[in-house]
Amino acid sequence: MTKLLIIYTGGTIGMKQDPETMSLVPFNFRQILEEVPELIKFNIDIDAYSFEPAIDSSDVQPEFWVELAKLIETNYRKYDGFVILHGTDTMAFTSSMLSFMLENLEKAVVLTGSQLPIGMLRTDGRENLISAIEIAAAKNADGRPCVPEVCVFFENELYRGNRTIKYNAENFKAFRSPNYPLLAEAGIHIKFNEAAIHYPSSWGNELKVNNIIDTKVGILKLYPGIQDKAVDAILATDGMRALILESFGCGNAPSSPWFINRIKKIILQGVVVVNVSQCNAGSVDMDAYATGCILKQAGLISAYDATFESTLAKLYFLLGKYEDNESVKFYMNENIKGEISKRK
Ligand code: ASP
Repeated sequence: MTKLLIIYTGGTIGMKQDPETMSLVPFNFRQILEEVPELIKFNIDIDAYSFEPAIDSSDVQPEFWVELAKLIETNYRKYDGFVILHGTDTMAFTSSMLSFMLENLEKAVVLTGSQLPIGMLRTDGRENLISAIEIAAAKNADGRPCVPEVCVFFENELYRGNRTIKYNAENFKAFRSPNYPLLAEAGIHIKFNEAAIHYPSSWGNELKVNNIIDTKVGILKLYPGIQDKAVDAILATDGMRALILESFGCGNAPSSPWFINRIKKIILQGVVVVNVSQCNAGSVDMDAYATGCILKQAGLISAYDATFESTLAKLYFLLGKYEDNESVKFYMNENIKGEISKRK
């Protein structure tokens, strides 16, 4: 029988209202399973593991990712797939991070959660959980997992984990994958999009967990009217090895010398500066406008069509893996886990 491990980390799916404050607080995992008695009908052997304490995903820290990745590593041989119940707020960060941390992954790791707690009548959590389980357990005709990737399932759609963004705080359809097709869609049947799913070139490789995470990344979000003092404050981030520049449109920034000179200076000092667009869809293309060309000449690296979440996760992973920033620069330009569609 197929064996799955459900890992409950927290999030709305398992929350209930605090009678005093009326706000949602994490709750007991056993309650979730009691709310979904249908799980018994599956011909799947399901075990559960609960994080103690369960957290609101706004509290996610790198140590949490390490714990999660190690848990999967420890249980990797015992189970055919994994379902992670996670708060929606930072789910896209965790799914991006895990995609880089879990090297040689050959089993499904499906993250899901909900917009309404599972105990509520109109909850989306029950459907999300049931379909996520079905996807994590699904096997092809040759007995291989249908989706050997880190992915996010939400409101009938399965996305590649490192292509996902949370874009709606209220709607049941809370996630999107603006630059990559769905990996699967759940209707009467679950239809897998085999052309979009990544399959290992050879099977039977050992899972390797990369659990060194280096968070020395500064974030500079551009906006009209940005002042030099605001830029200086970010550039003075202690020990910063990389900077994400959240640029306009297809990767444009102010062309004023005071700004460009500051960026050039930190690049000369060895900081890896990555250009991510503030647009959710489309790609950075620093050749399109003169303002972008100046950045390219200054030595910025393109994040291509990657999400902000996966660019940050990729930097955390690469900075952890490489002590020299030249290697980090090189691999930022490479497609490691399907996180970018690099134009030739
Ligand atoms: N604040 C919650 C969390 O991210 C929201 C959710 O789960 O939807 O943990």
